[in-house]
Amino acid sequence: MKETVRRWRNHGILALVLVIALMGSYQYLSGYTTVSSNVNGKEMPICAVETKEKRVALTFEAAWGDEDMARILKILKEQGVLATFFLTGEWAGKYPEDVKAIQEAGHDIGNHSESHRNMMGLTEEEQKEEIMNAHKKVETLTGIGMNLFRLPYDNYDDSVIRNIQSCGYYPIQWSVDSFDWKDYGADSIVEVVMNHESLENGAIIRLHCGTKYTADALEALIAGLKGRGYQIVPVSELIYKEDYHMNVMGRQIKD
Ligand SMILES: [Zn+2]
Repeated sequence: MKETVRRWRNHGILALVLVIALMGSYQYLSGYTTVSSNVNGKEMPICAVETKEKRVALTFEAAWGDEDMARILKILKEQGVLATFFLTGEWAGKYPEDVKAIQEAGHDIGNHSESHRNMMGLTEEEQKEEIMNAHKKVETLTGIGMNLFRLPYDNYDDSVIRNIQSCGYYPIQWSVDSFDWKDYGADSIVEVVMNHESLENGAIIRLHCGTKYTADALEALIAGLKGRGYQIVPVSELIYKEDYHMNVMGRQIKD
């Protein structure tokens, strides 16, 4: 009798496990078969990419000066590295020769809004203007129809993310911030990135143009990344364009 009870109890547990597994795969199949930036009802920008390939992206935000731009481009060229530059419209208007130099070198050009305002303080219409004014400016200068957008200040909510997407853009933030904008020095930039817990396959690394030390750190940073076996690719080559979903960390996962 005892034996029978135990056997039935075991069957019961097995059945329960099966039901849970079936429910899980149903949810997976029904919920994640299309392109989705939505995680449990919350919209996420792309901060990193899940991949088995040892690839990372270097991204530069250009909203301030251009005094280090020639050096940055020279080092990237010497190292055979293609990066992604997110430009504000104002910056592009001020430094059109730099924009053309970035384009000629073959780097990605992305949109960093017209005037680097906090999107959360703007109406929907103003947000779209911030995106599309920069878009038109760079298109006139280069003929490039940008589709990568870096939010100023990492401030966003669901509606900001949806507005970026409705303008034809992928919202691209980062998983590794170098904190170069804090001017702690070149060594600090390299150390922060190389010791970062999120430095892994598919990481998106954040740097800036017009800071004190970024250009000084760049050679050592690239050497460090290559030394770990990473290939450095532009964001346009790192991300999935379709058939993906996101997790809560903003990690893009192929369906
Ligand atoms: Zn910025």
